Amino acid sequence: MKTWVPILNGSGFGVNNLPYGVFSRRGELPRVGVAIGEQVLDLADLAAAGLLADRRWFAAGSLNAFMAAGRTVWQPTRERIITLLTDVSYRDEVEPHLSPVADVELHMPFEVADYVDFYSSREHATNLGRILRPDSEPLLPNWRHMPVGYHGRAGTVVPSGTPVVRPYGQHRGQEGPVFGPTAKLDIEAEVGFVVGTPSAYAQPVPTAGFRDHVFGFVLINDWSARDIQAWEYQPLGPFLAKSFATSISPWVVPVAALEPARVPPPEQDPEPLPYLRCDEPWGLDVTLQVDLNGHVVSRPPFAGMYWTPPQQLAHTTVNGATLHTGDLMGSGTVSGPRRDQRGSLIELTWNGDEPLELPDGTKRTFLEDGDTVRIQATAPGLDGMPIGFGDVTGTIYPAVR
Ligand code: MN
Repeated sequence: MKTWVPILNGSGFGVNNLPYGVFSRRGELPRVGVAIGEQVLDLADLAAAGLLADRRWFAAGSLNAFMAAGRTVWQPTRERIITLLTDVSYRDEVEPHLSPVADVELHMPFEVADYVDFYSSREHATNLGRILRPDSEPLLPNWRHMPVGYHGRAGTVVPSGTPVVRPYGQHRGQEGPVFGPTAKLDIEAEVGFVVGTPSAYAQPVPTAGFRDHVFGFVLINDWSARDIQAWEYQPLGPFLAKSFATSISPWVVPVAALEPARVPPPEQDPEPLPYLRCDEPWGLDVTLQVDLNGHVVSRPPFAGMYWTPPQQLAHTTVNGATLHTGDLMGSGTVSGPRRDQRGSLIELTWNGDEPLELPDGTKRTFLEDGDTVRIQATAPGLDGMPIGFGDVTGTIYPAVR
C-alpha cells in the first residue's frame, strides 16, 4: 500500500493506520477527519463531495454516530479511504480536503459514555501492592482470576492538552485527616479501547465479540493523587484520587490497524474461567514512551499486560451489563519488569523514596506545578510501517482556592 500523500520516514500515520479524530479549522465547526502523515483528511467534506457514503456521520462534533454504525460500516469506510489515498486517479479530487494538522484544532474525539479503568499489568499491581500494603501478599487473591477494575468518572475525561489543576482532598495525617492540595500528583500511562457497537441487556459479550463491538484504541493518562488515594481507597476503591481529570489522545487508532501488532499475551496461571478464555492472541505489541518535561522517563511495554482487551470486555458484560457507544475502558497502568518500564511515578520513585534525576539536573518524586507530561506510543504495522498513536499531554497548574 503506497499513498500519494507525502509521508515522512518513520511517521506513525501512514496509510496503514488512518486514526479517526475530530478537528476544526479556524471559524468552522468541528468535524470528523483521519490523520495521514502530517495532514488531516476532512471526511465531512469528502462525503459532501460524494466521495464517501454520506449518512452525516462525519459532519459531527464527535465520532459517536460513526462508531455506533458498527463494523459493517467501519470496514468499507476504511477500505474506501485507503483507496482514495492510494489510487492516484483520486488525487485531484481528494487533495483539496487535506489540511496540515498544525493548522487545525483537535478536539475530544468522542463523547465518553461510561469509563472503566482496569488494573491489568501484573508488574504494576505487584509494585502497588508492595508499596501500599508492605506487610501482605502484593497480589490480592482475586487478581489472577479476573481483570480487576472500577468505574471511573466519564464526565472528566478530557482531550490531550487540557490543563490539569492540582486537586485538593483529604490525606492521612499524623493525627487524623488533613485537607489540602495533593502532594503526590502522579500519572498512569495506559492504553484504552472505545466501544462502538452497543450490546443488549443480559447478553454478555464473549471475548470473540471484541472486533464487532470495539471501534479503536487511544492513549490515556489517568492522573492520580496518591495521598488522597491511599486514604480513601479501602474498601471501595479509588474515588476522588482519580476523578478530577483523565486525559486521552486525540486520535482513535482503528482495531484493524493494530491486527499486525497482535502477539501472544503472557501465560495465564491458573487458567481463567471459560468466559475469559480467548481463541486468538490479543496481546498488543504497543510500546509506550513517557516524557517528563521533555525527558524520557519510561518505556512501558503493553505486550506484557496479563489481562487482554477482549478479556476486559467480556468481564465487563458477564453480569449482563450493557455496552454503550463511547464506553471507554482503560488498561490500567502499563508497567514492565524493569525500572525504566514503569508507567507511574509512584513506581518509578518507589513512593518518593528514590527520586528520579532528570538530565537537566532536576529531581522529581511526584509532579510539580508547571510540569508537562507527554505519553506517546508506537506499534508494528503492515509492511513494517509503524502505527503511531496521537500524543496525550498535560501540564500541571497550581491548586486553586
Ligand atoms: Mn489507572
